[in-house]
This record gives sequence, C-alpha cells and structure tokens, in this order.
Amino acid sequence: MTTTQIPFEGLASGGQRIASADGRTAPAYNPATGQPIADVAQASAADVDATVILAHQRFSQGAWKTMRSRERGQILQRIANLIRERQETLAQIESANGGKPISAARGEIGAVANTFEYYAGAVNKIHGQTIPANANGTALTFREPLGVCVLIVPWNFPLVITGWKVAPALAMGNTVIVKPASATPLSALALADLAVEAGLPEGVLNVLPGSGSVAGNALVSHPLVRKISFTGSTEIGMGVMKQAADGIKRVSLELGGKSANVIFADAYLDTCIESSIFAVYDNAGQDCCARSRIFVERPIFDEFVERFTARAKTLKVGDPMQEATEMGPLITPQHRETVMNYLNIGDAEGAKRLCGGIIPSEAGLAGGNFLTPAVYVDVQAGMRIMQEEVFGPVVCIMPFEGEDEAIKLANDTPYGLSGSLWTRDIGRALRVARAIETGMLSINSSSSVHIEAPFGGMKQSGLGREQGMVALDHYSEYKSVFIAND
Ligand code: NAP
Repeated sequence: MTTTQIPFEGLASGGQRIASADGRTAPAYNPATGQPIADVAQASAADVDATVILAHQRFSQGAWKTMRSRERGQILQRIANLIRERQETLAQIESANGGKPISAARGEIGAVANTFEYYAGAVNKIHGQTIPANANGTALTFREPLGVCVLIVPWNFPLVITGWKVAPALAMGNTVIVKPASATPLSALALADLAVEAGLPEGVLNVLPGSGSVAGNALVSHPLVRKISFTGSTEIGMGVMKQAADGIKRVSLELGGKSANVIFADAYLDTCIESSIFAVYDNAGQDCCARSRIFVERPIFDEFVERFTARAKTLKVGDPMQEATEMGPLITPQHRETVMNYLNIGDAEGAKRLCGGIIPSEAGLAGGNFLTPAVYVDVQAGMRIMQEEVFGPVVCIMPFEGEDEAIKLANDTPYGLSGSLWTRDIGRALRVARAIETGMLSINSSSSVHIEAPFGGMKQSGLGREQGMVALDHYSEYKSVFIAND
C-alpha cells in the first residue's frame, strides 16, 4: 500500500471534518505491518485557536449546558447505542491502528459503550445540596460546568480513555476538545462523527489530531481553556501541570505506573498464574496498570516462577486480526527500541532473563513491532527495571517473606496506580490492601477498571479520579448561593 491510496482523515472541528490550516498531514500506521493506513490532518496552533474559540462560543451560547437533563442523557445514550451497533467496525479500527488483538479490541469498544451509557444515566442524578448554614436563610449549592475542557489521550487505550473523559465532561454540560495521541487518532475521529449522528450539537465534541509539541502545547496554553484532563507519561504530565498554572486551569492527571502483584503462599495458584500473565502482558504490556513487579511469598516462589514462565512462553504473539492471538505488536518501532533498551539495562544490572525479549522470526511478522514476553528473576528492588515504567511485555519476579516485607517492596516505587494481592486470608487481604499506596487494588483478581468505581493514582501516578460519579466532580464546580429569609 502507498500513501496515495490511503484515506484522508480531517480534523473534527465544529461538527465538520476539515483540513488543517497549513495543510499538514501525517500517516497513521498499522503497528502489526508497519504500513500506513490513513493520512491524518495535523492541527496547527491556528486550528487550535479556531476550535477553542468555537467550543467556547458553543459553551457560552448554552445550547448544550442548558439542554434539559433527560434530553442530554438521551443523546449520550444514543452515542452508546451507536458505538454498540458499530462495535465490529470500531474494533477493526482500534486493532489496525493500535495493534490490539481483535478479541481485546471488541471488548474495549464494548467498554466504551458502557461508559457512555453510565454517564447517560448520571445526567439527571447530578444535583447540589441545601445546607443548614448558621444564618437566617438558606444555603444552596449548584453544580456548574467548567467550559472548554481539553482532553489529552495516550495511544495505549485510545477510545477507552477518550470515553472516560468525554462522557463525564459532556454529562456535566461542558464542551470538549480531544487531542488523541499522534500514533492512534482514528477511533476518536470516528467517535466525533458518530456523536454528530447521535444528535450532539455541532462543536460540543471536537477532535484535533496533531503532535503534542504543537497541538497539545497550544491547547494547554490557550487562555479560553478551563480544564485539562491529561492521560500519559508522568514526565509530560508534570509539564502540562506547570503550564496549566498560568490561568489557574483545572488539571487532572492519569500518569504512569509500576504496579505490584503480591502473591501469598495460600493463593489459589491456578487462577492466580493465568490472571497474573494477562495482568502484565495484556496490550503487550503497554498498560498503565500492568502488574510488572510480582512479589511471591518464599515457599511458593520456585513453583510460581516455573509455571508462570512456562505459560509466558506459550503466549500466542502474532497477527492481531487472528482470533487466537493473545499479544500483538508494540505501538511503534521506536517504542520497541525503548523496551529493548530496558532489557539491555536489566541484563547489565545482573537480573536473570528466563525467557523473551526476542523479535519473533515467523513469516508475516517481520514488518511489525513484535517482541516476545520477557520474565526476569534475581532482581533487586533498586534496579532500574524494578523502578521505571518499561511499558512493554517485561516482568520482574522477586521473593518475599511475610506481610511487612511485601508491603515495603510494593510501596518501593515513585508510582501508585494499581496492583493486586492474592491470599485466602481475608484479614491479611484487608490489612495489606490498606497499607499499599495505590489508587486501585484488586484482591484475588487483576481487574483495575469498573466504570462505576473511581480510577486514578496516588503519588506520581496522578491527580484526580476518572470513572464513577466522582469523575463528574472533575468536570464541574460547586457554586454556593445563599437566600436570605427577610
Ligand atoms: P505521552 O508521551 O505522555 O503522551 C500522552 C499524550 O500527551 C499524547 O496525546 C501526546 O501527544 C500528548 N503530549 C505530548 N507532549 C505534550 C505537550 N507538551 N503538551 C500537551 N500534550 C502533549 O504518553 P504516551 O506515550 O502516549 O502513553 C504512555 C503513558 O501513558 C505511560 O506512561 C502510561 O502509564 C500512561 N497512561 C496512564 C494511564 C492512567 O490512567 N494512569 C492510562 C494510560 C496510559 P503525541 O502523541 O503527539 O506525543
């Protein structure tokens, strides 16, 4: 395929698909083949300015924020319905652009529909309070939308994370501009088209693909933007937070992780091993919640390592469009280089690699960014592969003795996003769960995401929470109104 044959994808601004002001485009690739699949308009600072002004006008005119709550909810529900109807098409886009196994991509699209449905149901349940103020009158609170919200999304779960931001922001009556990752702009653009079809007023949801340094930077610094919801690396998130200080823009940050998987000797090992495999290798390890540090209680350490490694070696790495594929490619050749550099660091630090970290040689995979799943033992807590987010299919397994050591090791990282612990002792489960510094923790499970429950990180993993009713707080302000009795 050549770039002249691939479809053009315009910016989604004001309900239209348009070329960028300077005509710039960039290819979006299929990471499994290395081939371009679309030619995508790249938003310039001028495009950002025009779209922010338009979104600000749409917000100020109030058609969306003042729309009756049931009607607003119905539009969000129609978006959910259309996502379900187009599940296969959207899954194909997400798989082709993100390298996801098609079965996983279908699951993700289903989750996006659930997100819109959840917030469709929330719209007419958002209300303020009457407060017994110490005065002769009545104090009330109203929940007010913020205005133009900029939603910056990474490439690892493009539409899932877009949905986590767009749905609550719209439910509160804001207007939004999504900045998808440069590598994976296609599904967010498809969502913008679908939202217009669902009856969302034009200009309420805009999607501006473009680079972080140009489009992202222009969005974060624009004076009419009121809120930035950023998901990505801790490094870029810190810069966004500093930049947002000008103008006191509201900020929420979902950042990196180095999550722990703590396994006590009384765990049900069969379930635990299968679950722990996907807890780190799902999405080829490119998951902020990846449990990439496994701590195993000494009596079962050898058995766990042997069985875990045997399963890692059988993971089916390959063409994402094959139903049987369990692990697809990494997102870009550059990112695979970064991950392989970490393997070199781990090897040089003296950790023992039991398997993986190999570029597969099978026919048909040569053009993609594939890498087999790696397992390290003989690791020390201070090693870089134990401290830094590798964001690839790499796990470190280390033994521990007793609860205190498990907690100390789990907390020995600047991050605090997610994690798991496995034990049949409920008292210990609760003691350890409370002591681990993390935003989400699963007991006898590896799931981090429940749309009904808050999602977000402690320490350098972020600020604020997505999902659940609490996400609505991050897209609204409380306004207090006092009415005198006299
Ligand atoms: P990234 O490099 O930080 O990029 C994230 C987004 O920020 C992209 O859209 C990027 O655009 C944009 N960006 C880059 N520079 C910017 C700037 N100066 N101003 C504004 N925006 C800018 O992260 P990534 O590599 O896409 O994603 C991987 C990271 O995301 C990992 O650290 C992972 O842990 C984290 N993550 C966290 C969560 C969570 O919920 N906590 C979820 C998923 C991923 P470009 O693509 O054009 O660079």
